[in-house]
Amino acid sequence: MKNHFKEETNMSVEMNHRKLGQQLELFASMEEAPGMPFFLPNGMVLRNELESYWKRKHQLAGYQEIKTPFMMKQELWEQSGHWDHYHENMYFSNVDEQNYAIKPMNCPGAILIFNSKRRSYRELPVRYAELGLVHRHELSGSLNGLLRVRSFTQDDAHLFVREDQIESEIDKILDLIHEVYSKFGFSYKVELSTRPVKFIGSPEKWEQAEKALESVLQKKDFNYQVNEGDGAFYGPKIDFHILDSLGRSWQCGTVQLDFQMPEKFDCQYIGEDNKPLRPIMIHRAIYGSLERFMAILIEHVAGEFPLWLAPIQAKILPISDAHLEYAYEVQGQLQALGFRVEVDNRVEKIGLKIREVELQKVPYAFVVGDKEVEKGMLAVRKRKEGNIGEMSLEQIINKFEKERGSY
Ligand SMILES: [Zn+2]
Repeated sequence: MKNHFKEETNMSVEMNHRKLGQQLELFASMEEAPGMPFFLPNGMVLRNELESYWKRKHQLAGYQEIKTPFMMKQELWEQSGHWDHYHENMYFSNVDEQNYAIKPMNCPGAILIFNSKRRSYRELPVRYAELGLVHRHELSGSLNGLLRVRSFTQDDAHLFVREDQIESEIDKILDLIHEVYSKFGFSYKVELSTRPVKFIGSPEKWEQAEKALESVLQKKDFNYQVNEGDGAFYGPKIDFHILDSLGRSWQCGTVQLDFQMPEKFDCQYIGEDNKPLRPIMIHRAIYGSLERFMAILIEHVAGEFPLWLAPIQAKILPISDAHLEYAYEVQGQLQALGFRVEVDNRVEKIGLKIREVELQKVPYAFVVGDKEVEKGMLAVRKRKEGNIGEMSLEQIINKFEKERGSY
């Protein structure tokens, strides 16, 4: 395994998440798949927690989750325009003498699902959420841990809305983004990008869309910066830059209005007067890329994840084999409540076990010796604070449940 990790010689801040990723056994970069990270068991726990939280929030916000194929026929990408504008960054395959492209974006898949049945104005807005794995070619020299990769998961959503729903939907998206960033302790700044020189659609539609975005931003009292002419050619957008604990900013979230894709794919819904109408599409992401968000988060908390995200939440450290039985009993009870607890059953000095727990940045450790077994208690150590005294299992469960929180 060791040879597969790239040696860290230059410890720049940007590389920190790679070092922590190795130290905490979160992910690995291997030469067998450059730019396509391998998630180790600890990293997978973190990733799954981020996904579960995301899924729960979207479910509550009225989104429906979808999953579209990684590989779709080349003609689809010609129709979407990706072939013309993006094919140098795409990967391809050939199956049964038919050319396929590995998706670089999730939009066409979501559109195919929207178009797969007749839609009425009453159904709109349709909100499809997709944790979609995409592949984009990046030069090998630019690859960097989880920050710059060739395969990553976008926390995508595609909303199909009526014109009169643009403002209210954007409003809800901004609330969701605020809630998610706040959960991780990120503050953020907002940028509005308007009509570029080269654009499609009518200037009136553009004006209407920009006004809608601006009006929501103003109504919510956002301090935003306007980037004149920086919008996508198919519509204006709002970008979100999160600010981390090291004072850096990262563009993560984006909300884009799109008049073009619904045209290209002839998306329709039946209006109140029974005539077909064209929906407007909103593309949006909150984490941006799950991998990149993880990299930022790892550095933001310096590997000291809050309890709900910590891959291992507590380690039980028996002083000798005589205390193993009690350690396993405590572990079993905590695991039954969904906590991630390990027992260090090695024959090692307790001092060494404690040092390792600190290096692994595990939030809690319980030392178990004769005294603890006798009294049915646990000697609790907290990350960065050290010994915080003796507690019963019941007290620990209460503390953990409160600290883990809910979503
Ligand atoms: Zn999209």
